[in-house]
Amino acid sequence: MSAVFSNSTLSELLRDDSFSKTLQNVITSQPQLNVMEQYWAAWYTYMSNDILATGLMFFLLHEFTYFARCLPWFVIDQIPYFRRWKIQPTKIPSAKEQWHCFKSVVLSHFLVEAIPIWTFHPMCEKLGISVQVPFPTLKRMTLEIGLFFALEDMWHYWAHRLFHYGVFYKYIHKQHHRYAAPFGLSAEYAHPAETLSLGFGTVGMPILYVLYTGKLHLFTLSLWVVLRLFQAVDSHSGYDFPWSLNKFLPFWAGAEHHDLHHHYFIGNYASSFRWWDFCLDTEAGPEAKAAREERMKKNAEQNAKKAN
Ligand SMILES: [Zn+2]
Ligand SMILES: [Zn+2]
Repeated sequence: MSAVFSNSTLSELLRDDSFSKTLQNVITSQPQLNVMEQYWAAWYTYMSNDILATGLMFFLLHEFTYFARCLPWFVIDQIPYFRRWKIQPTKIPSAKEQWHCFKSVVLSHFLVEAIPIWTFHPMCEKLGISVQVPFPTLKRMTLEIGLFFALEDMWHYWAHRLFHYGVFYKYIHKQHHRYAAPFGLSAEYAHPAETLSLGFGTVGMPILYVLYTGKLHLFTLSLWVVLRLFQAVDSHSGYDFPWSLNKFLPFWAGAEHHDLHHHYFIGNYASSFRWWDFCLDTEAGPEAKAAREERMKKNAEQNAKKAN
């Protein structure tokens, strides 16, 4: 039995011995639902076990989105034409480096992320995260995802800054900095403690949100996870195109922002946006350093004048 319909016996009536037949039953009996909602309802109905349905869906969603998003970057790395947009054009990751990274990421996915994924649905039930169709309105989902982006960015900024201090860097974050010129696959190349901490920004922030509001849909959460994975992989891509998002949204961090962090090891700690590093004066790179020094010089001059 599944909680995907408000009438809990409906899922038993619609369930069939194959996914496609179940989907057909859902389409015929629930024509008012949109295509995405019909697939979602058919998945939960067919699985007939919400714990397994949510766990498996999240695991597959993560694996598929992550590697599917990394693939175009891997292909672009093999084509010299694209070097003109590579931020550190002399540092092309070798096949050996990418293979090492791939193996480590897959292992970490299975070891670190498999357990939280399997315990996810019971937690959702306790918190009141709904799986029921229909989904919330597009407006509500957009606002919630926008908020998660802002909250995750804030968490990421402070956690990442902390990871650059002494022992945290030495024993945890150093692994992620193995590649001074990052590439897509290296987005989740990190120590398990870092994966857990930064994963908290992605999943923990929506949890805090639902604790406060008492209302969140699992579909919104899935969509947010997909977008956050795109952001993480893209910011490690190593390419800054004239059509990259940061060219249209000046506060969007993008690859240019995070590449500088890997290059200089210091500054640019946020994930999605530029405002934390801008406001707290932690922007990375020679240009930001020159501007900072210029500002400090001006301040010192002004202070000297005042003292006179
Ligand atoms: Zn770092
Ligand atoms: Zn990174």
